Amino acid sequence: MSRLWNFSAGPAALPQAVLERAQRELLDWQGCGASVMELSHRGKLFVGLAEQAEADLRELLAIPANYAVLFLQGGATQHFAQIPMNLAGEGDRADYIVTGHWGEKAASEAAPYVKVNLAASSKGEHYLRLPPRDTWQLDPRATYVHYTPNETIHGVEFHDVPDVGDVPLVADMSSDILSGPVDVSRFGLIYAGAQKNIGPSGLVVLIIRRDLLERASRPMARIFRYADHAANDSMLNTPNTWGWYLAGLTFQWLRQQGGLAAMRERNHAKASLLYGAIDGSGGYYRNPIDPAARSRTNVPFTLHDGNLDADFLRESEAAGLLALKGHKAIGGMRASLYNAVPLDAVRALVDFMADFAKRHG
Ligand SMILES: *Cc1c(COP(=O)(O)O)cnc(C)c1O
Repeated sequence: MSRLWNFSAGPAALPQAVLERAQRELLDWQGCGASVMELSHRGKLFVGLAEQAEADLRELLAIPANYAVLFLQGGATQHFAQIPMNLAGEGDRADYIVTGHWGEKAASEAAPYVKVNLAASSKGEHYLRLPPRDTWQLDPRATYVHYTPNETIHGVEFHDVPDVGDVPLVADMSSDILSGPVDVSRFGLIYAGAQKNIGPSGLVVLIIRRDLLERASRPMARIFRYADHAANDSMLNTPNTWGWYLAGLTFQWLRQQGGLAAMRERNHAKASLLYGAIDGSGGYYRNPIDPAARSRTNVPFTLHDGNLDADFLRESEAAGLLALKGHKAIGGMRASLYNAVPLDAVRALVDFMADFAKRHG
């Protein structure tokens, strides 16, 4: 059994070099006679790992000193609720920009904790494009503006950071974090479930401007309060040590690859190769998203005849291409091109697509 080219949307491919290193170190980490999973998170060795992982992430994203970096749990979904708990008080309002499945979910999970203003939505257009900026109904009293820079299921991505004035911008970057450089100072809060572009599931990376930590005013258990996590270096309780370790290895790997500017170049090359193959197929394959809003990370596409889907999936897997089945909400295929998916994987995919089209006419 060898590893296949893995296009899974999440949990997704991890860099092979990271997995190999974890395998080498699994039984005896740092010569301590135990695996990293079997050590106290309060011990010197693990605390060193945690600090290094944060330092590497700060370096990669050039995170300013007035931002805290938290390594949390609960998936992005838990933070859909925890963000309004921490950023909004009783009766406060927040703006939501909804451009796909995850933004819709973020807004509905926030609703018990904050008055959600649906400031913009492209749902009426089946999320095929971004809502034009001049139609956004931002509320000047909003405590924050939430959006999803990359919609993992619908394959829609903002190619720039929206300007929302002085209201803190909150971004669910679960599927685009570390895919290229971002100006962190444009955001009040960035969060991401790890299982797309960072490491295994069960870990959430959250970057928050420190002044926003002071906002949490409602009664809540400490485990929900970001300020308590920050004051305890994300060790308020036992963290996901294995996830933190793998995330740290991924950060080191990204630095060895030349950092996020290099990743952006590679990711753009991968995306243009695949979109080129789709658009150049004479309608055999289709991606319906407005080209100005196409995701460079998650590329949904359909075949001209849906009756061929099962053949496409069976034959692609036999050709060494894993997990191309689209999300059930929109059907068809989806190829996710995270950092750990190399250009060679995309070359193999477009070669297969051309060959499939030839054989199935
Ligand atoms: C996968 C994903 C989520 C859900 O993450 P969980 O960790 O399963 O809660 C949320 N938002 C986006 C953008 C995603 O891609």
